[in-house]
Amino acid sequence: AAELFYDENADLSIIQGRTVAVIGYGSQGHAHALSLRDSGVDVRVGLPGGSKSRARAEAEGLRVVTPGEAAAEADLIMILTPDHIQRHVYTAEIEPNLQDGDALFFGHGFNIRFGYIKPPAGVDVCMVAPKGPGHLVRREYSEGRGVPVIVAVEQDATGGAWPLALSYAKAIGGLRAGGIKTTFTEETETDLFGEQAVLCGGMSALVQAGFETLIEAGYQPEVAYFECLHELKLIVDLMYEGGIAKQRWSISDTAEYGDYVSGPRIIDASVKARMKDVLTDIQDGTFANRFITDQDAGAPEFKQLRAKGEQHPIEATGRELRKLMSWVKSSDDDYVEGSAS
Ligand code: NDP
Ligand code: MG
Ligand code: MG
Repeated sequence: AAELFYDENADLSIIQGRTVAVIGYGSQGHAHALSLRDSGVDVRVGLPGGSKSRARAEAEGLRVVTPGEAAAEADLIMILTPDHIQRHVYTAEIEPNLQDGDALFFGHGFNIRFGYIKPPAGVDVCMVAPKGPGHLVRREYSEGRGVPVIVAVEQDATGGAWPLALSYAKAIGGLRAGGIKTTFTEETETDLFGEQAVLCGGMSALVQAGFETLIEAGYQPEVAYFECLHELKLIVDLMYEGGIAKQRWSISDTAEYGDYVSGPRIIDASVKARMKDVLTDIQDGTFANRFITDQDAGAPEFKQLRAKGEQHPIEATGRELRKLMSWVKSSDDDYVEGSAS
């Protein structure tokens, strides 16, 4: 069984005794920096000159310095830039400022798991990865709750890496919801698989294919949008509250029977076989290499795929319908509807 940790299993004073640098102030960075600060931790934010995030961090009363300065001041450095940028920031600004006894923290195991960052032997290497988007991590903390975290130690140079990682997890509210002990390998591979096969890749493709099927059969796009996308939230909320069982309890018997007889016709053994292929590409580094190679070339494939996704007709239909539903609002301060970014 998984090893679970809650607030009573962690000592907040450990992280309160450290000097922390949070590198990056995006989705996760802002949540970590603000909640650490509110938990009484000495925190500074590391951002390059000219960073768009700088003004937002300063408006919250945080001290912003360059990543190199932040790393030099701190004895615990949490790297929360996009994954494909981490090894550049690490090599240029962090590595030269690492001392034995320092701790290097991550919110996702990608760069350690695939060997893009190789920390020196004298530093602790830990992960505190919230299982939720950064804006929710911050909102839950502010409301006295938390988003569950998974915690891992790759390298325990000081002998104190575990209590330190748990203390950090407590300071961002993660242990109010619960922390699960994992490894960098398990976190990285399951995170990539989950987002590719189920949560993001699988779900987006399922919704688009259902929408297309109805449109191609001559049904109205607005009706297809409500059926295939809008209602998804209600279904997922039920699953979140009580599993697939609660969802099936709540829907009509007609829907439940259709679930049993048609679900396996859509998601059949061939889908699972391809899920295993996707997992293999993650495990053997094929996916990581493709992603990083594209990013290093200026992300041509990524940009082309993003533009193509934005042009899918379900987006235009949804934009019009959401305008009519004033209560459906984006909860992410940075997201602008219909902007290709
Ligand atoms: P974001 O894309 O939101 O982070 C962007 C931030 O990094 C911005 O503040 C950006 O500044 C800054 N940045 C860009 N380049 C540099 C640099 N060279 N030096 C310092 N800062 C820089 O990242 P996420 O929060 O999405 O991801 C951070 C980490 O957390 C990743 O490892 C990710 O896998 C992990 N994670 C993310 C989750 C999420 O909710 N998004 C969930 C769980 C884990 P500027 O404003 O100037 O661009
Ligand atoms: Mg992820
Ligand atoms: Mg229905």
